[in-house]
Amino acid sequence: MNIGNAEAMPIIQLEGIVKTYRTGEVDVQAVRGFSLAIARGEFVAIMGASGSGKSTLMNMLGCLDKPTAGQYLLDGVSVGALSRKQLATLRNRKFGFVFQSFNLLPRTSALENVELPIFYRHPLVSLSVQRKCAVEALERVGLGTRLRHYPSQLSGGQQQRIAIARALVNRPEVVLADEPTGNLDSRTSIEIMGLFQELNESGITVVMVTHELDVAAYCNRIIVMRDGRLLSDEPNRNHRTAANELMTLDHAEREANLA
Ligand code: ADP
Ligand code: MG
Repeated sequence: MNIGNAEAMPIIQLEGIVKTYRTGEVDVQAVRGFSLAIARGEFVAIMGASGSGKSTLMNMLGCLDKPTAGQYLLDGVSVGALSRKQLATLRNRKFGFVFQSFNLLPRTSALENVELPIFYRHPLVSLSVQRKCAVEALERVGLGTRLRHYPSQLSGGQQQRIAIARALVNRPEVVLADEPTGNLDSRTSIEIMGLFQELNESGITVVMVTHELDVAAYCNRIIVMRDGRLLSDEPNRNHRTAANELMTLDHAEREANLA
């Protein structure tokens, strides 16, 4: 990373971020003074126990919610100064979102689930172009043969792939994923982490929340939160590589079948 180099301005820069939820009588301080810079092209894991403020932080990173105090510079732009409408535009342009529970529309095909965000962002683009972009995104995540399937006809891993295609279709600079492997078995989790590693290698910045060290081990940097604060922030130089692990697993499976 080239911190200090003016060329390499962080894509995400947080300074003293605080988030307080007002619910009736009591205030909950979910994030209590959090500062962080993320450079373009990083693959960051955010870890921490349940309730440590990870999702709250992610919602602010993705401009889904505003901090109570502190400054957020997104690509040098102070997010706090923007109107709701400007914020929504910025969010749609910069980010793709992936969630633990996939959040797909149930009675809607894979293709239509992925077309929808194109329609929201570029309503005037022709249907054939929307379709072409959606097909490309689904092919990129390995679902080119499942375009017409409904979520209920697909496995959890395949549903998460649709959600990742949906996150990619508007060519985001940053993908934000909150516990994306939380509902998946271990083999499928490796496949999904492989997909995130591919996206990251293609230049997309990835920030991913997980409470599993096994999963964070695929990222290049691991941040740990505790009680709404930064507990640690370390590079993960010897990160796991999903593609290699999947080859080894496939090989072992073939051997077992031959035996
Ligand atoms: P994590 O994702 O690490 O489990 P969260 O960011 O969801 O943590 O929550 C951090 C704290 O903020 C918790 O104490 C939680 O109960 C509280 N919290 C989260 N969202 C809300 C909300 N919308 N209203 C009130 N309190 C909330
Ligand atoms: Mg959470």
